[in-house]
Amino acid sequence: MNINIRPEIERLKETIIQTRRDIHRHPELGFNEYRTASLISDRLTELGLEVNTAVGKTGVTGLLKGNEDGPTIALRADMDALPIQETGDVPYKSVNDGIMHACGHDGHVAMLLGAAEVLSKNSQFNGNVKFIFQPAEEGEGGARFMIDDGVLIDVDEIYGIHLWNYQKFGSIGIKAGPILASADIFDLTISGTGGHGATPHGTHDPIVAAAQLITAFQTIVSRNTNPLESTVVSIGTINGGYNFNIISDIVKMTGTTRAYTEENRNMIKVRMAEIIAGIEKMFSVKIHLNYEDGYPPTINDSTLADHVIKSASKIAPDGVESPYMTMGGEDFSYYGDHVPACFFFIGSAPDNRQPMSIPHHCSHFDIDEKALLVGSSVFIQLIEDRLSMTSD
Ligand SMILES: [Zn+2]
Ligand SMILES: [Zn+2]
Repeated sequence: MNINIRPEIERLKETIIQTRRDIHRHPELGFNEYRTASLISDRLTELGLEVNTAVGKTGVTGLLKGNEDGPTIALRADMDALPIQETGDVPYKSVNDGIMHACGHDGHVAMLLGAAEVLSKNSQFNGNVKFIFQPAEEGEGGARFMIDDGVLIDVDEIYGIHLWNYQKFGSIGIKAGPILASADIFDLTISGTGGHGATPHGTHDPIVAAAQLITAFQTIVSRNTNPLESTVVSIGTINGGYNFNIISDIVKMTGTTRAYTEENRNMIKVRMAEIIAGIEKMFSVKIHLNYEDGYPPTINDSTLADHVIKSASKIAPDGVESPYMTMGGEDFSYYGDHVPACFFFIGSAPDNRQPMSIPHHCSHFDIDEKALLVGSSVFIQLIEDRLSMTSD
């Protein structure tokens, strides 16, 4: 495979891999990334960058100043781990019980520190580079806290990488437009009138209503969504009932919805409300829906996607391709609400394994560490292509 790892990164290979392993061994949950943050701020300070800590609670930023007339480009890594007990047998296995870097954020930090080390040697850029190390991507939306603390003030464009075990090493997944989905959460309660299982007349059975509701919700995907687009409505839990011969008076459910566009996201909410009103009438039950917006869809700016494609093609000339898409969500999307943003994937499936055999968020998650060098190289290439004094 033809991959042009940047020579400066090839020389830093050991440092980058050791950094990833060190963080992997010491994973920390969202908003508790104290050790990780202090490792990052120590490194960025050594590199002579202007460092800010406790941004968005536990986040860290480093600013590399070039020509102040030029744009400021931000590069973002997330830092948090997941509440999973690591089961894989690796020498750098987590020492923190029940906590594990099972999404690859340890690698994101290592890649961005590697890029910062190389880029900080050059003060001749036509603009500035802001390195953003963000807490709490896994559910708590650390990006919003960073934005509230002003991390995007003066930022003109932002890029983020996810290591991606759904793509093989050497491939880089990038496209303009939607790349990850919105991830909303709901819970609902169906209240009816219970009674004896042998005398259903006179009761308003919430279990029968629940069955119809679940089936009707599936038509949002199959009948209301343009078949060339994608949505998901999933019921994750359902609880109700007391005994085999009792008609229950209450059923509770929780679930999630996913969409790649705000239009579809909104359509799901509208249809859910309409279906609920219909079911209430049909079965004389009361349904209370509590719907919470989660992360918005991650939508790549097309100009920025072109920049990534151009720079990534220099690193992996045969590897730049359409991403392996999932309906997963990313809080990187919040940055895109404020400035042009682009998120892309670095294939990291271990060489000797099938791409789907080590999925993200599994207890034996691991990556092909060579992918870290690809990610750092793309970041460096991107900044040089965008900010070199001699660039076109
Ligand atoms: Zn994750
Ligand atoms: Zn992740």
